[in-house]
Amino acid sequence: MTASRPGRRVVLLDLDGTLTASHPGIIACVRKTFEELGHPVPDEAELRRFIGPSIGESLRRNHVPEDEIEEGIRIYRHYYSDVPAFDDPNQPGGKVPGRLVNTVFPGIPDQLRMLRADGCFLAVATCKPEYQALPVCDHFGLTDLVDGVYGASKDSSRLDKEDVIAWAFSHIGFNSDDGDRALMVGDRWTDAEGAAKMGLDCLGCGWGYADEGELLDHGCYRIIDRVDLLSGAVEEYFEGRG
Ligand SMILES: [Mg+2]
Repeated sequence: MTASRPGRRVVLLDLDGTLTASHPGIIACVRKTFEELGHPVPDEAELRRFIGPSIGESLRRNHVPEDEIEEGIRIYRHYYSDVPAFDDPNQPGGKVPGRLVNTVFPGIPDQLRMLRADGCFLAVATCKPEYQALPVCDHFGLTDLVDGVYGASKDSSRLDKEDVIAWAFSHIGFNSDDGDRALMVGDRWTDAEGAAKMGLDCLGCGWGYADEGELLDHGCYRIIDRVDLLSGAVEEYFEGRG
């Protein structure tokens, strides 16, 4: 007989819009893409709509001709991953690629420390490809504040939030029969729906990129509007007071 272990309280944390404000880097790379393709750069409202959908889908919505989509995706990814073309918001005077034009929301590190001190097991679960998510978490000091970082695959075998959650669960040996419980924490409908598909609840983060009403419409059991409410809300959930 194996010794029973206490069930874990697993907190699955979305990355973009939940832990980090990633829109400046994404928008900067979209601007570069339109400039290099030789098309007018969309207005600010349209640029913000690039946050979330795939880059190809967004280029098509902006009437980039079909025979230029692939080149547009290549340009975008080049600036996002590789080219240090942008001012570093965290190191004035430095230049970084788009993925690092990104800041951790104020208060997030403290909230992660509090959750861990309370005994929660923390796992980043992002639809950003894992090979991009890992260096971003390292760069921003998040890796040391969590117990694992899980993302989408580079190919299309693991794309959606539910796939990433399942991937994280298999890595950490999540087992509800052993008393393990989990909660998704995220800022978009994709977090809420991915959680629901895995039989989990989702705590909505109102400081991210959701449209008005989006998180409730997609079934978040609760939405918090301030980062400093995060650890308390998670603890209330696991205590059944959520
Ligand atoms: Mg997000």
